[in-house]
Amino acid sequence: MTAQTDRKIWVNSADDHVYEPDDLWRQAGLPEHLLKLAPYKQIEDDREIYYCEGKQVFRTPLSMKEAIEPPGSKDVHLRMRDLDSQGIWSSVAFASTALWTAAMTDRAAQTACARAYNDWCQSEINSQPRLLGAAMLPLLSVEDTLAEAERVLKMGFKAIAAPTTLPPGLEYNQEALEPLWALLAEARVPFCFHIGTGPQPLAYTRGPGGAVINYCETAMPAQRCITHMVASGALDRHPQLNVMVAEGGCSWIPALVDRMTEAYRQHAMFVKPKLKREIKEIVYSQVYTSFQHDRSALPVMQATGYDKVMWGCDYPHLEGTFPNTQAVLQDLFQGVPDSVRHQVTIGNFDRLFGIQTPQHIAA
Ligand code: MN
Repeated sequence: MTAQTDRKIWVNSADDHVYEPDDLWRQAGLPEHLLKLAPYKQIEDDREIYYCEGKQVFRTPLSMKEAIEPPGSKDVHLRMRDLDSQGIWSSVAFASTALWTAAMTDRAAQTACARAYNDWCQSEINSQPRLLGAAMLPLLSVEDTLAEAERVLKMGFKAIAAPTTLPPGLEYNQEALEPLWALLAEARVPFCFHIGTGPQPLAYTRGPGGAVINYCETAMPAQRCITHMVASGALDRHPQLNVMVAEGGCSWIPALVDRMTEAYRQHAMFVKPKLKREIKEIVYSQVYTSFQHDRSALPVMQATGYDKVMWGCDYPHLEGTFPNTQAVLQDLFQGVPDSVRHQVTIGNFDRLFGIQTPQHIAA
C-alpha cells in the first residue's frame, strides 16, 4: 500500500517554534540587573535586531520577520488551528528569541532565563496536550545544567533542547557531562540539537553565494555534536539515551557513520575509548533526525536502513512548509510504502518522545 494522493496526510512535526512574549523576562520577575542581560529584539529601520547582554547577536530583514509571523505563531489557540489546517497532530516546539540565551556569558542571568523560559513553556505551551515544548538548559555551569535538567524532567517535559555550539571550554565529548547523559537516559527524554543554535555560530559569509553558504553551514555544527557523542562513548555507555538533530536533514547520517567507522578502524591505535558496539549500531538506533523538504531523505532511508528519520514542518519559519504542508507531504510520500510513511510521520516521533498518537490520526 502506498499513500493516496487524495486524502489528507496527518503527521507529527519534530521541529516547530514558539514565539515568546516580548516581555517574557519581565513577566517572570527577573531582577533588574539580570533583566538587562537577557536577550531581546527590536525593530530598527528595515531590520529586526536581536541583542543579548547588550550586544547585537543577530539581525534579519523586516520582510523575513513578516513572512514568518502568522497569527498562530504568538497565540497558542490559533496555533492549534494552523496545525490542524496543515495536518499536523503533535508538534515539538523549540524557542525563538530565548534561543539566544545560549550566547550569554553571565551564569546567574543565563540560569535565570532558562528557568523563566521553561516555566513559561510549561504553562503556555505544554498545557496543550498536542504540543511538546522543548525545555532549555543553562550551560555555563554543569552544576546548573544538572539542576535545571532534574527540574524540567520532574515537570514532565518530553524534550530538551541542546545548542549545537557550546560556551568556550565545554564540548559534548567531555566527562563532565556524564551525569547529564545518565539522567536523560534514565528519564528516556531525548536531547534535541536544533541547528543554528548556540553561542558560537560560524562567521557569516558575505558576497557571492552568501545566502546559500550560510544556510548550509548552519547545519554543520550539529553533525559535530553527533560525532562527539558517538566517539566519546556517551551514546555507547547509555543505550537508552536518544538524541535528535532538528531541521538538519537526515541523509548525511549514513555517510557520517562511514567516516567515523573508517577512523575507528584505520586509526585504531589512537582510538579511545573503545566502544562496546559498532558505530553503525549506536547511531542507527539512538540518533534521530528531521527534515522538511529533502528529496534524498526517504530514498536514503530505504537504501541504507538508517530509519530514525522524522519529518518536521518548522512552523512558522520561512525554511519550513507552512502554509503548503499538504502539498509538500503529498509530493514527498508519493509512491512511498505506507509503512515507511507511518514510521517517518508518526512512529518514530511517538517512540522518541514517549507519546501515543490517537489511532484515527495514525492510520
Ligand atoms: Mn526549526
